[in-house]
Amino acid sequence: MNHTKTSNMSTDNRLSHQPTMRATQTDIDQAYMQIALDLAHEAALAGEVPVGAIIVKDGIIIGRGSNAPIGTHDPSAHAEIAAMRDAAQKISNYRLVDCTLYVTLEPCAMCTGAIQHARIARLVFGASDPKTGACGSVVNLMAEPKLNHHTQMSGGIMAKECGAELSQFFSARRKAIK
Ligand SMILES: [Zn+2]
Repeated sequence: MNHTKTSNMSTDNRLSHQPTMRATQTDIDQAYMQIALDLAHEAALAGEVPVGAIIVKDGIIIGRGSNAPIGTHDPSAHAEIAAMRDAAQKISNYRLVDCTLYVTLEPCAMCTGAIQHARIARLVFGASDPKTGACGSVVNLMAEPKLNHHTQMSGGIMAKECGAELSQFFSARRKAIK
């Protein structure tokens, strides 16, 4: 239908090392989480709390986002929202069916709501967020039976690495303030 769309799907959006037949779901999840972690690091370099997210559909990354509320003066500019906006534009559809969202930090209530509105099939997150996490830490909106869309969820993927990126950022910032 749209030939330019197809050519945009460069090999760049696939994993550089395509998982073999023997790769487990965990191997695949970790490989994608590493890409989200690179986006989190980009956020840190811009002085934003390091959170990164990607959207994967049929083995292709169709959306990327870094946390950027300070730089954009936008309280909704969380990594998940940015990745979902990017993906929705790319496929010209506000519904991101059959997509997996990878994010380095447990989504907040705003992002969890947006994930449900977008009909994301599966959510994979890294570190838990005891302060604003809405996928089990503070509340669990994903487990609310009255909400009509149910996203499959896996938490704690590369939690140590994702958490380390955040703690390094905050400890550097504390040092800078002193
Ligand atoms: Zn959020």
